[in-house]
Amino acid sequence: MSNCIFCKIIDGEIPSAKVYEDELIYIFKDIEPQVKVHLLAIPKKHITSLDELTAEDEQAIGHIFSTVAKLSEEFGITEGYRVISNCKDHGGQTVGHVHFHVLGGEKLPMNII
Ligand code: 5GP
Ligand code: ZN
Repeated sequence: MSNCIFCKIIDGEIPSAKVYEDELIYIFKDIEPQVKVHLLAIPKKHITSLDELTAEDEQAIGHIFSTVAKLSEEFGITEGYRVISNCKDHGGQTVGHVHFHVLGGEKLPMNII
């Protein structure tokens, strides 16, 4: 997607604080962290929103969760974390490329993101 900021981040056209990358997914620091650790985990494939996921995306989406679990120590979230994904207008989505907020590093308030 030529006009997608997260695709541009994956391609390196827009700089980001990358914490992990492989052939399927990319994980980087949110530019406006809401809590101590605030990462964004995205599939490399451009998918506009959660409600456009298909069976062929299951590997990448599952891989996001298992990778965050595997790297929880490196990410500083071994005491627990929250994963949130906002879908479309009613869900509060502001960037049109599926992303999962990974929040942790401290005891989280109930009303964030
Ligand atoms: P949403 O509101 O769609 O659930 O979340 C979008 C998130 O992307 C926000 O938390 C926002 O701070 C983050 N964001 C928007 N633009 C950029 C950017 O250029 N770089 C990074 N690292 N994060 C961004
Ligand atoms: Zn995109």
